[in-house]
Amino acid sequence: MSPREFAIEVVKKLQLAGYQALWAGGCVRDQLAGRIPKDYDVATNATPEQVREVFGRKRTLPIGVSFGVITVLGPQRVEPIEVATFRRDGGYSDGRHPDSVEFTDAREDALRRDFTINGMFFDPLTKQVHDYVGGREDLAARKIRAIGNPHLRIDEDKLRMLRAVRFASTFEFEIEPQTMSAIRSHAAEINLVSGERIGTEMRKMLGSPHRAVAVRLLRKSGLLTELVPEGRSWNEQSQHWEPMVAKLERLEGDFECAAAILLEPIIERFGIGMMFERWKLSNQERKSINWISQNWRKLDRAEQVAWSQIQPLLVQADAERALAVAASQAAEPSRGVVFCRKRLAWPSDLLDPRPLLDGGDLIKLGIKSGPRYAQILGAVRNAQLDGEIDSVEQARSMAKKLSG
Ligand code: ATP
Ligand code: MG
Repeated sequence: MSPREFAIEVVKKLQLAGYQALWAGGCVRDQLAGRIPKDYDVATNATPEQVREVFGRKRTLPIGVSFGVITVLGPQRVEPIEVATFRRDGGYSDGRHPDSVEFTDAREDALRRDFTINGMFFDPLTKQVHDYVGGREDLAARKIRAIGNPHLRIDEDKLRMLRAVRFASTFEFEIEPQTMSAIRSHAAEINLVSGERIGTEMRKMLGSPHRAVAVRLLRKSGLLTELVPEGRSWNEQSQHWEPMVAKLERLEGDFECAAAILLEPIIERFGIGMMFERWKLSNQERKSINWISQNWRKLDRAEQVAWSQIQPLLVQADAERALAVAASQAAEPSRGVVFCRKRLAWPSDLLDPRPLLDGGDLIKLGIKSGPRYAQILGAVRNAQLDGEIDSVEQARSMAKKLSG
């Protein structure tokens, strides 16, 4: 069963039990725009308890039950589907989460959603769209428009500012002027949103091929200086800004590559630690972004230095990423990048030949162990990589000479 078939199944079961049930939100938007939805959400007038009765306790999880969301488990290898009872949100006193929710009907459930294109329902059995917010029109006009009063909607939940920029950039839509103006006036409040949520949005925006558009919109809306207040050089020096955006435009790489480009002046001055904390990056992301930042320049000039200086970099996991960053620096990839890419295509025994000697060999040669071992082995390895020696014999005599 495909995810789509399962999503139809869930709606059918609820409808057969006498409830109203519809696909809701992002999946309706994607489907109407001709994209394949990533996942399907179902909205219903059944209460969470009734949803559990329809599907059985064993096939449901009450993870989000406080907002009226029940997770319905699919058949093997099919993602679960979230079934949410139509709701209206109570007040928002923390600028992010509703204080309470009340169950209601489809129309009110549409009104609590963020943007018109995200506020539609679809009945997969009758193929009918239920559009209470003008979503279809805005989807056709490629507009991100807040549902209701943009100031109030953004004031309720500041995360919506980043969602607007993300949807506008990834779909190549325009943020409707009043929604944009509300974002500008609330931009300073973006840091009320948790680092995790900001990080998740930044990961999606910078991970997308439309990242340059996202970054332009973040700057235009005033969000960028709030997200990275140290990034003065972006805002005050156009000689830095335009080249940076051009690099993001050329980049063929992932989030880590884009973050290394965007945050370059920040990482140079303050290190990666600050952004790691702020966006709650994973340790792996932190390591990669840092490695890319420290090494792409060396790869960019690889043809000018000894192979033994480049090879240890190219065999690292993030070499491809650092090369993507180096390649984004100019319209044409540098000689260094071309050189590295050719070498990366080498068979692995040529790219990363087995060392001629190891510590055990030094012991057998009667060389006294100590910190010099690493130096000797390093020098022998470099000579091997640079083609100065190519046999174990030569390696041994070199080691002896170095130890003498
Ligand atoms: P994506 O393709 O990124 O998953 P999506 O629109 O499906 O986009 P989700 O975060 O999965 O986004 O949320 C599903 C739906 O829930 C949205 O389409 C929207 O109707 C509603 N929604 C999500 N987040 C918010 C929010 N912060 N404020 C109001 N409504 C929201
Ligand atoms: Mg979604």
